[in-house]
Amino acid sequence: MTDFLNDLNEVQRNAVIATTGPVMVLAGAGSGKTRVITYRIAYLIRNEGVSPQNILALTFTNKAAGEMRHRVDTLLHQGSSRGLWIGTFHSIFARILRNSIDLIGYDKNFSIFDSEDSKSLIRQSMAELNISVESVPVNTVQGLISRAKNSFILPSEFHRNASDYNQQKASQIYELYARKLKENNALDFDDLLIKPLELFNAHPEVLQELQETFRYIMIDEYQDTNRAQYLVAKMLGAKHRNIFVVGDDAQSIYSWRGADISNILNFQDDYHDALTFKLVENYRSTGNILKAANNVISCNLRQIKKELISHRNEGEPLTLIEAYNERNEAERVGEQIRNLRLKQGFEFRSFAVFYRTNAQSRVLEDVMRQHKIPYKIFGSVSFYKRKEIKDAVAYLRFILNDRDGESLLRIINFPPRKIGDVSIAKLREFAEDRQISLYEAILHSGEGGFQPRLVNALSSFSAVIETLRKVAVDGTVYEVLTELFTLTSIPLLLQTENTPESLVRYENLQELLSMARDFSDHNPDTGSLGDFLENISLASDYDETQESDNYVSLMTVHAAKGLEFPVVFITGLEERLFPLHCYEPEELEEERRLFYVAMTRAQEKIFLSWAQSRYQYGQQHHCLRSMFIGEIDASIVQTESGNFLSDRQAKEKVASGFSSPSRGYQSKTATSSSAVAGVLPKSSQPAFREGTMVHHAVFGPGVVLDVQGSGAKQKVRITFRNAGEKTLMVQYANLRIQ
Ligand code: ATP
Ligand code: MG
Repeated sequence: MTDFLNDLNEVQRNAVIATTGPVMVLAGAGSGKTRVITYRIAYLIRNEGVSPQNILALTFTNKAAGEMRHRVDTLLHQGSSRGLWIGTFHSIFARILRNSIDLIGYDKNFSIFDSEDSKSLIRQSMAELNISVESVPVNTVQGLISRAKNSFILPSEFHRNASDYNQQKASQIYELYARKLKENNALDFDDLLIKPLELFNAHPEVLQELQETFRYIMIDEYQDTNRAQYLVAKMLGAKHRNIFVVGDDAQSIYSWRGADISNILNFQDDYHDALTFKLVENYRSTGNILKAANNVISCNLRQIKKELISHRNEGEPLTLIEAYNERNEAERVGEQIRNLRLKQGFEFRSFAVFYRTNAQSRVLEDVMRQHKIPYKIFGSVSFYKRKEIKDAVAYLRFILNDRDGESLLRIINFPPRKIGDVSIAKLREFAEDRQISLYEAILHSGEGGFQPRLVNALSSFSAVIETLRKVAVDGTVYEVLTELFTLTSIPLLLQTENTPESLVRYENLQELLSMARDFSDHNPDTGSLGDFLENISLASDYDETQESDNYVSLMTVHAAKGLEFPVVFITGLEERLFPLHCYEPEELEEERRLFYVAMTRAQEKIFLSWAQSRYQYGQQHHCLRSMFIGEIDASIVQTESGNFLSDRQAKEKVASGFSSPSRGYQSKTATSSSAVAGVLPKSSQPAFREGTMVHHAVFGPGVVLDVQGSGAKQKVRITFRNAGEKTLMVQYANLRIQ
């Protein structure tokens, strides 16, 4: 009966069979935490005769939930996992609410509003309250309401404590929005997490019944739970107290979404009798991969020191790809995939390509498609299907074909021109009467007897279209797009909204702009708008017709949590991209944990890539290599041609006569390196040069861009992570080499 437990090591086995009382497993990546949950579920059913209906397992993504169910099924042979409660927090909580939400005044067939729906409701509420979207952007309001909800702050309380104009307005809107949600019999994403608490408080009998049902509760990735998730799980487990959580503080990557690392750190305060297990063997990655990951994470000051040793052999060194721009980077990733497949027999499904921001996926997608490498984008909508891209593309399509009604409806009131559904219906009637197209009706709206306000709005819209058409006659796609953005101010509006979501959209539009420029550069003869649009449509088609399951996985690092792949590419390892802009030391530490998550997904091989220049925000930027690369022991990193960085570093030292490392290859933890720390005595100022990573007492961390002069007059131009560019006199700056 217990033979399957032989697949586990002793500590894992002990964690599996400790089925009663609170238990926590705090352990590093790849040590088998998720495996322990899976085996524990199987053990409970097979050996302790627990009914699957009494087991609840909470995961972070649907993919993780699916995999867990599949593995349990395999372990139980006859697939008796039916009835098990395995799912994400959102899906399980929704299921709980479906059963009893009528008790707090909703109908059981409530709708779940996604972010777009919820925004549209916020807009309606603002209109009713006469609060203009110009005075407070909708996304700002949405963010403020979401934060209030997740902190269990009611509208009245929010109103009392509102400290600035935005908060005051948001608190008013919050109240009406909440009422409207209820009128719509709808819950937004935040409600899914917090309504169970309202339900349990109002109806303790519902909670009691669920407490009976969930005799065993298991939570994966506990480090990323937020307050609401934590509280609901705690309440559900309060009766039987068989609560089993696994996590790794070094992989906490969702603090920006309210995840609270103290949930894992305080587990023992919550449950004094909690058993804790530490898993120290990593079964996933080769020794070198693990060593590199440990080098990096040990640069974080805030962390629980954990032992993690590789169960596997040393493996190969990591490979660094130094590309000259982002297209070259993508090409070389594609080349490596093709070579490894042909020469070493890896399948497409063995490869994962990670990036820090969604916008980076576009070039990678293009190259995969060109080289006929099957790929799939996970965790986010394909670049071309994102709303802001579709909106911009709709303009381009419409310029080319003014009978494209779908595109017209997308753009006629975007950005908002106060052309509502009623006006469009009237316009339709007019078009039908005269037997003309909708756009012709717009052009002739002066003769339709419409209100002057509408006629004005329509003619300002058609003026935009006509101007763009003129530009398109002999201009490049890039010129058309630039003109579009200038005329409509769409990027500017997103930028002034200044919310994380609007900034992502802004970035994506800039990426489209880069793409257009790139296209025109590469297709000087055929670079027409039509070709450009065809490229885009094929991209989305290709994505959809993906049939087999043998493809390269493309995803952001956030979406890669918990997964593993034989070969991992971590791309865009540049300052201000990965790590992304960081304003606080905590943010840099979170970026570093994210990089740690990325590295620890790999089983056999890691490729680290960066580009010396990159089109970003519609412009070409000179890039500096990410500080994270320098945190890895140079003796386990090689270039594509097989030279070790440590050798290159040594050669550079000899050639330049430097005695201290200056390119940041050294790791703080690497025993072989001669890392220089502390303030250097003025008499022996180090020789700075381009790429040296430094730390200034006031400006913080930075990278040297260039050096002017020598001796007492030497100056260095430095780009500081938080303080921008500065030129300093070396003699007085007290710079520390990082
Ligand atoms: P992460 O922190 O990344 O979520 P994890 O701790 O959940 O990692 P798992 O995904 O459970 O780790 O395990 C990592 C890999 O090691 C998996 O492929 C798993 O099957 C394998 N593994 C774990 N324990 C053992 C073991 N005792 N024997 C063989 N393989 C194991
Ligand atoms: Mg896991």
